[in-house]
Amino acid sequence: MSYLDSKIPPLREHRHPETSLAHGSEYGGRRSRGECPVMSRADRSFTQGSICPLLPALGIMTSLPDTVVLLHGSVGCGTCAAGNNVNVRAGRAQRGGAPSDAVWVSTSLGEMNVINGGDAKLREAIVEADRRYSPKVILAVSGCLPGVIGDDIDAAAEAVKGQVRARILPVHCEGFKSRFMATAYDVIYHAVGRGLMPAPESAPPRDPRAVNVMNVGSMGLADERELSRILESVGLKANFFPVFSDPDSFPRAASAALSVSVCPTHDDYFLGHLEEKYGVPRVIRHMPIGIGNTSSWLADVGEALGLGAEARAAAAREEEALREALSGYLPLFAGKRAFISAGEYRSLATASLLKELGFKVCGIRSFHFDSFAETELGKLSGDGEAFVFNVANVQPFEEANLLRRLRPDLFLGHMHGNSTASRLGIPCQVIYNTGYGYLGYRGAWDLARRLARKLSRPGLYRRLGRFGRLPYRESWYSQEPFSRIRAGEGEA
Ligand code: SF4
Repeated sequence: MSYLDSKIPPLREHRHPETSLAHGSEYGGRRSRGECPVMSRADRSFTQGSICPLLPALGIMTSLPDTVVLLHGSVGCGTCAAGNNVNVRAGRAQRGGAPSDAVWVSTSLGEMNVINGGDAKLREAIVEADRRYSPKVILAVSGCLPGVIGDDIDAAAEAVKGQVRARILPVHCEGFKSRFMATAYDVIYHAVGRGLMPAPESAPPRDPRAVNVMNVGSMGLADERELSRILESVGLKANFFPVFSDPDSFPRAASAALSVSVCPTHDDYFLGHLEEKYGVPRVIRHMPIGIGNTSSWLADVGEALGLGAEARAAAAREEEALREALSGYLPLFAGKRAFISAGEYRSLATASLLKELGFKVCGIRSFHFDSFAETELGKLSGDGEAFVFNVANVQPFEEANLLRRLRPDLFLGHMHGNSTASRLGIPCQVIYNTGYGYLGYRGAWDLARRLARKLSRPGLYRRLGRFGRLPYRESWYSQEPFSRIRAGEGEA
């Protein structure tokens, strides 16, 4: 039986029981000697903020054109969607559409709904959303509150489906159920797999040149163009899913010759489904960030489709041109110490890229850790250079302590994740920026140029460091940064 036969997707921690949220130690030489395992049951005695799975889920859902995201929950639930709207507008405009807003509405459950149930309100809201916006799809998303009071969003969708033109996709994203924000990806792919994919016998005919490339919300059109260019160099064409994809386009995913992930953490649920149900084989190993990683990504695609020699030759040409172009920047980067904070795979792949550019990686903070990251971590541990490895879903107190000790020359973090480092006076670079390239060979070049500018003009960060304040006492900085991490039962 497939996971998709069930209305509710499995939790990430059940599908990948090795997943960890808390770890902190020195890595590198110790790792390669097997002395530094990540503990899957470790936890913190104190935590300070974490990301609810709804945040990345909304990033994907609000990007879909002709779609209403109907948040069934309390009014504050998912309001982070408002901050993401700038990406939605820009992303649609970049892709040739009008710069329209995401359509996001809420059932705004109150106390009486908690007592009497919120199903009726959801049914009314679905009908009203269909009347007002005439979308192709309504995503009926369950937040924590309906999950606690037992509202059945699938039953509500079934009850009103005859009254609306839109397809209604129930999305089970109750934040309290999973501590791993990567659960968000499974939740979205579960809804897409059940509601937008065809029966195998109705799938479009196989296209031997088409490759499904699974994009992520934080990559922009420049990255999609770069991955398309790389695949075209060996005669293949990319179909991008799911971010910014028209709901009617998803059946094409069943007709591709191959699926390749951009981020293994992001994609394994759906790529497994495409292989099982439609016979589309998958490659899920490398993230195309950095020179070596991009070449490995392309080589894997080529091998899977009988184009291995062509892919290796194309990669060699790209590498030669890129290394020559980068040579002018390398003296500036040589030996500079960098700290990276991001999702599991991006942080590790970015560390590989920085090493290729001549940086020393002194620390990596990954939002979670699971078995997918082993390959990437192995690449970094190979040279025996030690670095601090911290697994933390936000936890800025730990980050502040670490950064004060390590004092890196450069910090790379997500758009909203640079405030701690910048108030310590450390030059910061946004790890992804949907307006710029980050992936592939051109992404490596683009990032190198931006880093050179950043490191050549550190004045802003010096001033922020002089006047910025963080809310922690000296007594916290005098303690070990990982002193709040506790090993789980049976772990040392
Ligand atoms: S799903 Fe739960 S944790 Fe997430 S924003 Fe809504 S109420 Fe908060």
